Amino acid sequence: DLLVNQIAAGEVVERPASVLKEVLENAVDAGARAIEVQLEQGGVRRIRVTDDGCGIDREELALALERHATSKIASLDDLERVGTMGFRGEALAAIAAVARTTITSRAEAATHAWRIDGSDRSIAPAALNQGTVVEVADLYFNTPARRKFLKTEATEYAHCDDVFRRVALARPDISLQLAHNGRVTHRLPPSPAAQRVAALMGDDFVAQARQVEADAGPLRLAGFASLPAYSRSSRDAQFFFVNGRFVRDKLLTHAVREAYADILHGSRHPAYVLFLELDPAGVDVNVHPAKIEVRFREARAVHQFIYHALKRTLAESGA
Ligand code: ADP
Ligand code: MG
Repeated sequence: DLLVNQIAAGEVVERPASVLKEVLENAVDAGARAIEVQLEQGGVRRIRVTDDGCGIDREELALALERHATSKIASLDDLERVGTMGFRGEALAAIAAVARTTITSRAEAATHAWRIDGSDRSIAPAALNQGTVVEVADLYFNTPARRKFLKTEATEYAHCDDVFRRVALARPDISLQLAHNGRVTHRLPPSPAAQRVAALMGDDFVAQARQVEADAGPLRLAGFASLPAYSRSSRDAQFFFVNGRFVRDKLLTHAVREAYADILHGSRHPAYVLFLELDPAGVDVNVHPAKIEVRFREARAVHQFIYHALKRTLAESGA
């Protein structure tokens, strides 16, 4: 019911950026080749995400806003090896409980689209090409206590921008666009990874960074890591992805920091974009609903692998 969903929303929907994260991940899970994001007033007034993915048929649409309705996990075995970004089936229900939410979608085989209104769950025919438009307006309009915790428009937008960048770095193969208050702030065509990294981190970052390329058994590390001469504000320059998912994880951060400390004395704020790939069964992404932390089955081996791979790469550069 609404109250349960509003309480659950407290875990998932902290601010506009958390809405954007969930809705963007759904678009990625739907196999979208192009995703467009429109924000108004830092996402508080409106978040609209348009994708050209598989769409949702009428029956699924009725369930999409219900709690624990997911099309992605059919068995416990699936949960062991989550291949999609989402799998809990909680996000849309939570979002719809605290914002005016509509979903318009046209599934591949459908002759036209359908729209569901989150306020009364009514479904009506609509016009749309294949894909989905999720619109989330007036965040926390019915929970004023939460609204008070929202920061300025600029701050909320900055958090949305962070979320957008993480998806954009993880998926250079997807065309992505972001607009804020009607002004386009990112327009990213599908491109090779290095080009996407350059578009988001700057050409100078890629030009001076060392390319990281290492594997050991089931572990693979790829990406770019800066040399010490390259300095920029640290907040937006450190990206770690595990199986395509952005994470901020103590173990990984520690391994990176140790490698830098050993090689480049005094380089406190390295910039990096690193992608770790491993068997999904070796990593638990189920730790927290916001899914920014992970737990590794072989934590020590992962730490050692990253530490040595990075140290080797930085040392080779002769720094
Ligand atoms: P989860 O992603 O954990 O399954 P969500 O609440 O985020 O749960 O979404 C519920 C369901 O709605 C998804 O399982 C999926 O079937 C459907 N869905 C949501 N967004 C999209 C989209 N953009 N394209 C296709 N299906 C979607
Ligand atoms: Mg989801």
